[in-house]
Amino acid sequence: MSKVNKVIDRYVRVEVDVRFRQDPVPTRGECEGIAKDVRRHVDDVARAFVVDETEDACEFCGSKWTEDSASYNGGCCDKDEENNPGRTP
Ligand SMILES: [Zn+2]
Repeated sequence: MSKVNKVIDRYVRVEVDVRFRQDPVPTRGECEGIAKDVRRHVDDVARAFVVDETEDACEFCGSKWTEDSASYNGGCCDKDEENNPGRTP
């Protein structure tokens, strides 16, 4: 049977991976600088911009946010545990 579907390129683009180091990860300011350098130095490239991939994290300890609640992350740290709705005073 012949293949009836095909892949259509909707939005093909170049990504510049700036994870040249893991610790500390590049800052947004460093990424903006790299994007600016690309715009200035690469022929026929007028647009290069920073794209964020974010994830929610505990504001106190930085643990990945795993809960549906907006105020309690399952007790990832003592400060978070203070927001436990089931906590007895
Ligand atoms: Zn925490």
